[in-house]
Parts: sequence; C-alpha cells; structure tokens
Amino acid sequence: MGADRDLRIGVLALQGDVAEHAAAFAAALSGRPGEHAPVIAVRHPHQLDGLDGLAVPGGESTTISRLIEKNLMRRPLLEFEGGVFATCAGMVLAAREVDDPRVHPLGLVEMTVARNAFGRQRESFERDLSVTGLVAPFHAVFIRAPIATRVGPGAAAIAALDNGAVAVRQGRHLALSFHPELGSDLRLHHLFLDGL
Ligand code: GLN
Repeated sequence: MGADRDLRIGVLALQGDVAEHAAAFAAALSGRPGEHAPVIAVRHPHQLDGLDGLAVPGGESTTISRLIEKNLMRRPLLEFEGGVFATCAGMVLAAREVDDPRVHPLGLVEMTVARNAFGRQRESFERDLSVTGLVAPFHAVFIRAPIATRVGPGAAAIAALDNGAVAVRQGRHLALSFHPELGSDLRLHHLFLDGL
C-alpha cells in the first residue's frame, strides 16, 4: 500500500462500459498525489504487463467470457498480479462459481455469484448502501445486477442486501454488483487504489 506511489491502471476493453471506467479511474488518479500514467484499454495479454490494477467492466458477462477466451486472455488474467476492480458483469467474471455455464469465471474472488439476481421487475434500481470502510452511505446504481449468494472464508462481504452480498473484497480485488463508474462518487475507486 502506498498512497503516494505512481499507479498504472487498465480497463479490460473487450465489451461493456469501458469508457466510463477509464474516465472514473482517470478522475480518481488525478485527485491523488504522484504522476500516474494514463488509464489504458487492455485488449491483449502484453498490455497487462506492469499494471497495478485492472477494471473489469459492466456489460454482458457471457460475451466478455467468450471474448476472454477468443483473445487468449484467460491465462494472463489468472496470472495477473495486480488488483481487479470488477463491477456487475465483471463481478460475475471474478467469481469462483457462477449459476450460468456459459460464463467461465476467473475465480479471483472466493464467492458464488447468481446473474440477474433481482428479477425483471427490478432490472434497475438505486439504493443508499452502507459499505464497510466508508463513513457515509454510497448511492449505488444496480442494472441487471448479480449478487454473491456465498462468500468464502478468504473473502469479505463489505456491503449486502437481503438476498446476498453486493460488494466483496479479497486482498487487492474488489467486486461490486453495482456501477460506481456511472456516478461522481469515487470513494470506492480510492478504497481500491489504497489497497494496491
Ligand atoms: N446481467 C449482466 C451479466 O450478468 C450484467 C449487467 C451489467 O453489467 N450491468 O452479464
């Protein structure tokens, strides 16, 4: 951990809200001390070299999973030593187990995830969440969100709703059911960056 260290962040840019993640991390980095490299779009294995953190965006987890295999990114992602900031579809991909065989999760976070866990009536909703480590609630936007139905002993749920965990931390990784990249509250980005 070192708030003053220069940090290199990438966004997995195979599908999903890549631009929003890049902008949010650029904004978070610009508010920190140090000379941080521009946030890069990662499409090929060599682009992971030297990164401290990687955002795995929201989007469609079945598609991102397929594109990970197609771009030969699976092993490099499994071997990536930095932290992963995984939102929504990214959370599905970061899980150890997923309730959909079309997704081949990376197993970065010890949790079981159910896709689209809130049903059709509530495809999208917002909630003020209390998050361990943040002083004031976080206004969270959920869009066809997954949920962690099981969090293993190696990981910690830091926010939950009635049906399961919506924010899970494991070492340098942070997995979120919702979309902090869509708002201007960057506290979760800073929580992640502080842990790198
Ligand atoms: N429901 C999507 C999936 O499981 C995730 C939705 C999102 O990323 N906003 O892939």
